Amino acid sequence: MHELSIAVAVVEQVEEAVRDRGRAVASLTLRIGELAGVVPEALEFSFGLAAEGTALAGARLLIETVEARGRCEGCGREAATGMPPVLWCAGCGAPLTLLGGRELEIVRLTLAEGPAEEPRSAPPGPPVRDEEASHVPHR
Ligand SMILES: [Zn+2]
Repeated sequence: MHELSIAVAVVEQVEEAVRDRGRAVASLTLRIGELAGVVPEALEFSFGLAAEGTALAGARLLIETVEARGRCEGCGREAATGMPPVLWCAGCGAPLTLLGGRELEIVRLTLAEGPAEEPRSAPPGPPVRDEEASHVPHR
């Protein structure tokens, strides 16, 4: 599963970053473009698996979905491309240059108060994401 390999890579990267702090990770925020080909639900599930037994166990995963936008090469008009993306201008029909929407990055990390040995055992909360996430294609 594509999302699992992303989750494993994210967990490894964060573990590396917090290794010397000796504290558990309370929450992690990822920014994901709607064209990144990531299904948020699948990533949340995979993150839970990948985080097991690490400093990220029990951490909340927050996903910020970034809308894909394009700028027209003809008239300069900027607009969301929508999903599935329409890559030509609604005004003049010229092709759009993609401005964003392929992001996949860690934007925020909060550490728990306690040491890593006692990860929070809070049940996974409801998935947090904005409504744009519903436009992410299921692959
Ligand atoms: Zn145009």
